[in-house]
Amino acid sequence: MSGRGGEKSREQQLKGIAAAPGIAIGKVYKLSSSALNVESPERRTITPEEIKEEQGRFTLALDRTRDELLKLRNKISSELNSKDAEIFDAHLMIVEDRMLYDEVMQMIEDSLLAADFSYYTVINRYAAAIAAMPDAYIQERAADIRDVGARVLRNLQNLPKDENGTKKSDEPYIVIAHDLTPSDTAALDRGMVLGFATESGSKTSHSAVLARSMQLPALVGLGEGVADMVDNGDEVIIDGFSGFLIINPSAASKEQYARKADDMNRFLSSLTQEAKLRPETLDGFMVQLSSNIESLDDLPQVKKFGSCGVGLFRSEYMFLTSSTPPDEESQLNTYRSILKELGDEPLIVRTLDVGGDKLNNQLRRYAEDNPFLGLRGIRLSLRERQDLLRTQLRALLRAGVYGNLRVMIPMVSCIEEVVEVKQIIQELQLELKRERKDFVQHLELGAMVETPAAALMAEKLAHHVDFFSIGTNDLIQYTMAIDRGNERVAYLYQPGHPVVLKLINSCVSVARRHNIYVSVCGQAAADPRLAILFAGLGVHELSMVPANIGAVRRVIRQMTMFEAEQAGQMALQCSTAAEVMKIAGNVLAKVAPEVVALVEDGNDG
Ligand code: PEP
Ligand code: MG
Repeated sequence: MSGRGGEKSREQQLKGIAAAPGIAIGKVYKLSSSALNVESPERRTITPEEIKEEQGRFTLALDRTRDELLKLRNKISSELNSKDAEIFDAHLMIVEDRMLYDEVMQMIEDSLLAADFSYYTVINRYAAAIAAMPDAYIQERAADIRDVGARVLRNLQNLPKDENGTKKSDEPYIVIAHDLTPSDTAALDRGMVLGFATESGSKTSHSAVLARSMQLPALVGLGEGVADMVDNGDEVIIDGFSGFLIINPSAASKEQYARKADDMNRFLSSLTQEAKLRPETLDGFMVQLSSNIESLDDLPQVKKFGSCGVGLFRSEYMFLTSSTPPDEESQLNTYRSILKELGDEPLIVRTLDVGGDKLNNQLRRYAEDNPFLGLRGIRLSLRERQDLLRTQLRALLRAGVYGNLRVMIPMVSCIEEVVEVKQIIQELQLELKRERKDFVQHLELGAMVETPAAALMAEKLAHHVDFFSIGTNDLIQYTMAIDRGNERVAYLYQPGHPVVLKLINSCVSVARRHNIYVSVCGQAAADPRLAILFAGLGVHELSMVPANIGAVRRVIRQMTMFEAEQAGQMALQCSTAAEVMKIAGNVLAKVAPEVVALVEDGNDG
């Protein structure tokens, strides 16, 4: 079923989305997603006497599915980390959804339809409703629902278990599929799978997230029909840096990519060995490099890649992953544990930032048409969930006595928000004093600069805070007026846009004038080219995913601040992001040509 006819053995290159870095060379194994493997059940009617039996069958299938998911969650938790395992918590929530359960039980009883057909009808309706939502991130959750649905149906129909990860083969292989559900990805045999490529999917899909954690090179979004262009056993190359899939590579291509893979591996391990070196430029300027983390589990990475503490702790993950918000004592324990691990190094905790794509119905009371422009971050904390903010700030005030703790406010768009948070902190300090609890007298407080409003009023903000942290992920989306998760406007998501740089520059100038600390903690800080520009504009600290620190450290150690400043000033005069990235790319090629290959091709914005 090859679509290539006579061209079967000719090399072909296809461009997809680079979802996880790395190069894989190997033979194809075609996998049909487990979610697609389940046939739609026939519409079988039952007699009233069979109702109880069908309902029992359904409940049993749910129990089995729950057991399977718990096992998978434990597998991922022990092989990767508990954060990645949380994907299966979301699946467990679907299995345990009371409304869905009641609807199926009711359908079996009222319509006298067999359990499989009833369940299939209800779960498909849910998945279709989610898939029709305007938000791309939410749409992708339909895949999770279908994934769980397929599991339950397999158990209802007593079909053999999903064997995706256990293909019997003595040779490692590359998986090509239309799509992979998170279950498929998690079940992949890590000893045998070299990487995967799928026709659909985006960078933010859970499978892409898992691939990055599993350190499997991966491509997504290759387009329909790619799986039909290859047969099992065909040779392919996945280039998870540039996003290319090479089918039937020529001998020259194989040699070229094998060399690239070797170089890359040698290079990445040499970077890890530099973890203890100071991030200092050749002319003696330090640029602090720190980590973005989401949970305690990320701490080993912080140490491994030699970061100076945590520049952004996304505390909302503590809230999003449990059914009840963590109380003061459990938050205190978490912050204290991190501070103890970090010693004197700073921990910057961001207060709860729910909203936008981080939706959580338990924490938010209303659905919004434009959640990214809605009650998000500090807005939600002050207007609707002050209870949560107060509990978190109490835990932070108490944790501050155990180390170098700073706190920052997400999504600031007016001064009153900062003033109000400071008033609450004062009230809480009085409360804690009355209760004779230990707490810090001065909690270092920062504002995140992630709206143009915050950047443009930095001068005024500086009077109220101890530091700025520039969240470029949001600053870019709000400046360019695009949803950062929407693939269709992804071309406008331009971290190097001169206007974005201008906002950052004015914020840094203000911070320098007021003698306050300024960091960049958005994903842009991890791009070596932008890291040069940010350092050149005067940013004190760059905070990023720990694994990206090595490359940025290498660049900083091989450049002069003079070069970076010149590039920064030239970039501010540019008209387009492409011009900016060219300037930065030239500096990178000059000071650290070995790092150029890590920069994603085509990512010139
Ligand atoms: C940002 O917006 O750049 C940021 C760091 O916050 P988040 O990505 O969590 O919105
Ligand atoms: Mg943000």
